[in-house]
Amino acid sequence: MIWILLGAPGAGKGTQAKRLQGDLGFVQISTGELLREAMKAGTELGKNVEGYIRRGELVPDNLVAEVLQERLAQGDTGNGVILDGFPRTVRQAQMLEEILARHHWRLCGVLYLDASEEVVLHRLGGRRTCPQCGANYHVVTMPPKVDGRCDRCGAELVLRPDDALDAIHKRLEVYREQTEPLVAFYSQRGMLERIDAGGDAEEVYRAVKTAISRRWQQCLANG
Ligand code: AMP
Repeated sequence: MIWILLGAPGAGKGTQAKRLQGDLGFVQISTGELLREAMKAGTELGKNVEGYIRRGELVPDNLVAEVLQERLAQGDTGNGVILDGFPRTVRQAQMLEEILARHHWRLCGVLYLDASEEVVLHRLGGRRTCPQCGANYHVVTMPPKVDGRCDRCGAELVLRPDDALDAIHKRLEVYREQTEPLVAFYSQRGMLERIDAGGDAEEVYRAVKTAISRRWQQCLANG
């Protein structure tokens, strides 16, 4: 069973995906994390995508679809796979339909985290990330126990280069132009679950779980 988390940068996709992973045994696949790992490892792919990511632009569809396919091919689907940050364009959504059909995987639902621009700007501006384990914090709403250090692994927290103000504005513009059309795309297919993502992570998670349990029944019933 495949689930998609859709939403603007800063809407909370990563936070919710990590909760689903820990709580329900879902496997989170974040294309952003996979690309950052490739950059850290200095691979050919990493070198090719670095410029796009730093500028807050989208990586070309074919590159990112290839990364996703390789990751899916590892076959660890747990109790479901949660796609965090893919698809981000209508073309990617069409590519995903082809990939799923080829492997006989079913898309169960698209969880659309709907948050205002004010909310996402606040979240991204204060976000600090662990370069070691990928955990996210917020300087005001979710600070680490020890200032500037990751609670989980102790590494020094950093500001992601694409969380710098210029890149944030670019990412939101790209989101509005290229990713937001997916709301209509999946709504027309009857797959969309709109979730108010303006509240705290706990509140949003409750709504996410309610949407999942509703869809889960439908997904099983459809065979
Ligand atoms: P994220 O961690 O999901 O915010 O992604 C960080 C960056 O990685 C994005 O701003 C894009 O540059 C790139 N990226 C991640 N997923 C995709 C995707 N599905 N399509 C194109 N670029 C992506």
